[in-house]
Amino acid sequence: MKKEFDDRADVYVINTCSVTDNADKECRQLVRRIQRKSPESLVVITGCYAQLKPKEISGIPGVDLVLGAAEKFNIATHLKELTKGDSTRISSCDIEEVSGFHASYSLNDRTRTFLKVQDGCDYGCTFCTIPMARGKSRSDSITNVIRNVKELAQKGVKEIVLTGVNLGDFGKGADGAKKAEESFYGLVQELDKVNEIERYRISSIEPNLLLEDIIRTVAGSKKFMPHFHIPLQSGSNEVLRLMRRRYQRELYAERVEHIKSLVPHCAIGVDVIVGFPSESDKHFQETFDFLHSLDISYLHVFTYSERDGTKALEIKPVVPVHVRHERNKALRNLSYMKMQYFTEQHRGQSRKVLFEGHQKNGMMEGYTDNYLRISTPYRAEWANQIVDWTIA
Ligand code: SF4
Repeated sequence: MKKEFDDRADVYVINTCSVTDNADKECRQLVRRIQRKSPESLVVITGCYAQLKPKEISGIPGVDLVLGAAEKFNIATHLKELTKGDSTRISSCDIEEVSGFHASYSLNDRTRTFLKVQDGCDYGCTFCTIPMARGKSRSDSITNVIRNVKELAQKGVKEIVLTGVNLGDFGKGADGAKKAEESFYGLVQELDKVNEIERYRISSIEPNLLLEDIIRTVAGSKKFMPHFHIPLQSGSNEVLRLMRRRYQRELYAERVEHIKSLVPHCAIGVDVIVGFPSESDKHFQETFDFLHSLDISYLHVFTYSERDGTKALEIKPVVPVHVRHERNKALRNLSYMKMQYFTEQHRGQSRKVLFEGHQKNGMMEGYTDNYLRISTPYRAEWANQIVDWTIA
């Protein structure tokens, strides 16, 4: 039975991430909290950080079991063999040996669900540990994804967000081999035909994989929302080359222009990293000016931080930490202005909002098709419903 963290549970599973800077510290703190309130409970650590640093984690007092990327799906079997007080067990293998695909979805709120259709990544961006933590690119089959989508629709879900580590690379089987007959474009086409579900969003897609056919299908679809999230990471071609990204800024600009020419009201979100080694003031200014010139809606700004085992550690000179923070702030300000401008463009327009089911302080929230966040006093009849809404 699932419990809230503040309740007492027999087993606590901490699913760690390697993307946050403080994975180690956060994990230690959580384990300490569990030990204080429930010393008899079993503590299992899994996720990316567990795959990358199993020995380090097994040294945290109170941890009973560390499960790597392949083993986390066998958690029930491992638990049967475990008693509190045994020495910490590690069950993990080299990431190259990890294969198989396990579909999963979140179902906290019926309104919007995240459906995993792809995992792992075959790219080698020099700042990234994800391929080391999640393994090679693998995907679900289109048939299975459709089955899951229909199942979710039956549970009352209105919007499905398709997720993956490198979603545009969909089409490699559970063993990582490319299936000639399956691609992300094929998936989008097939999902568009499923009547039972009302809305899809694509969580994030690499610009080089966002092909013309995909843009065109989304532009003509009533189910795929006018919203793309496209990682850029840097607006300097020199930095992009050092990051080993698979495109240059010209391709990115061309994608954004094309999307906006077909769907002027489309929201476009951008991931960007500041303070990557060798990023000079001139490079940063190039990034800032480039983002400023693009017709985008918001930014997710990440401050570069060193990660063990990545090639970026060899790139010099490093950017001082205070400069990284200043650049982050400058881009967050730019993001705020972009969002204001994007919202301004839609004032007075009627758009469809999917309201979430829960209320907070008497208010409810939802998103328009093009990802504008709407907040309004709670009305029970709007919960988990799509409502015509005039943007004020
Ligand atoms: S494409 Fe994304 S997940 Fe893959 S290596 Fe690059 S940043 Fe990491």
